[in-house]
Amino acid sequence: MRRTKIVATVGPATSSPAGLRGLLEAGVDVVRLNAAHGDMATHAANAQEVRAAAREIGRMVGVLVDLPGPKMRTGVVRDDAVELQSGQPFVLAADAAAVGDEHHVGTTVTGLSQWVRTGDDVFLADGAIVLRVVSTDGADVITEVVRGGTLRTRKGMNLPRAEAHVEPFTERDAAALEMALAIKADFVGLSFVREPGDVERVRAMLPRRGARPSLIPKIETASALDNLAGIVSAADGVMVARGDLGIQVPARRVPLLQKEIIRYCNMAGRPVITATQMMESMTRAPLPTRAEVNDVANAVLDGTDALMLSEETAVGLFPSDTVRMMAEVAEAAEAWPRLRHDPTATPGLDADQVAWAVAHAAVQAAEDLAVAAILCPTRSGQTARRVAAFRPSMPIAGISPQPEVLGPLCLVWGVRPLAVPDTPDPDHQLRVAVQAARAAGLAHDGDLVALVFGAAGPRAGSTDSVRIVRA
Ligand code: PGA
Ligand code: MN
Repeated sequence: MRRTKIVATVGPATSSPAGLRGLLEAGVDVVRLNAAHGDMATHAANAQEVRAAAREIGRMVGVLVDLPGPKMRTGVVRDDAVELQSGQPFVLAADAAAVGDEHHVGTTVTGLSQWVRTGDDVFLADGAIVLRVVSTDGADVITEVVRGGTLRTRKGMNLPRAEAHVEPFTERDAAALEMALAIKADFVGLSFVREPGDVERVRAMLPRRGARPSLIPKIETASALDNLAGIVSAADGVMVARGDLGIQVPARRVPLLQKEIIRYCNMAGRPVITATQMMESMTRAPLPTRAEVNDVANAVLDGTDALMLSEETAVGLFPSDTVRMMAEVAEAAEAWPRLRHDPTATPGLDADQVAWAVAHAAVQAAEDLAVAAILCPTRSGQTARRVAAFRPSMPIAGISPQPEVLGPLCLVWGVRPLAVPDTPDPDHQLRVAVQAARAAGLAHDGDLVALVFGAAGPRAGSTDSVRIVRA
């Protein structure tokens, strides 16, 4: 059974009932709806379709709505792709609605010409295309193409000096957040976060009661690296967003940053996603490169909770094959002797020391006894997250009657979310949990299982008990 989770981005290649079903059947745990592209109605329809398909195959699948954030982008181009030739002039036009071609393109940044200087490099499409600023002409920016390539519609644009002048929360973010809340998304991704306040501001916009999405800031700016500890503690999880990160800092630093961010999140008990270009060549080819296979395996060995696919499943020719390949590579990497984690060795990351110690004791007992599974009836999902932080060798079940508790667990390493009927009696809750584990094939007649829960009833934040029982 694979422990590492897979996040797949939905796009033209998969935005259909058959496409979405293909992703689910290939093993996707979370679908990512990238609000930087597409319209909100299509995203909402895809979310419904995914949930219906997941119900049919009897599996939980999480939905992540990724807010575009203050990411600068180029505008629409003619026929969705134009070729930029090295050495040619190219204009970044002030008119956002302009239809681009070989000579010019619009951008989402008003006042761009005020923020650039002659000689600045402008990176398009994660640096695949490089322009150099030659001059400005009113609101237009005249550049020369330094590295040519294919420019598609609405690609990312990086221009270090202009970044500080961009609004942190745009109208498009507001529309995407509204859609995410309407569809009860399990996760909301926050792009270009610079400081903990960027996370807190969005959290303040969430409804006070009822289902609230987990907030997943993307670590992809130089300032986010400086403020990592604060951002992780303000967040419910993070993404190592290697695409933009590798432009904001030299790409050669990204492998080490990936290890550091993952280790920090592991210790803090926060799920972490490793993203971008993981199996990029499978956008066009039926097999990944050796380097990609190694990259995916190494992210697993680094301790990532989840692996993400972007263009591979959004616009690729082999979306479900890519998911299957990623799943196989991840599962093979998991066979490596495990690096045990001990978050309790890093005090101060989380105040609930009783809950951490109980989770630790549960995992220790589970390993000593080689139990079949660790079952976590939980009202908030925290118990399952804490148990998973120790990376036990047996399956973990996060058990709840509430879909809004189960959804966020789709991202957490090794945790299988299990839905159970609601029951008020605490002893009955434990029996129901064991039954659900048996029905899911996690434990068989007579197997030992560990139950981790709050003895006063599995209430949020009250994890205080371990019980070892026979299924
Ligand atoms: P993006 O984020 O795909 O929305 O740009 C991921 C990244 O930058 O790696
Ligand atoms: Mn990004």
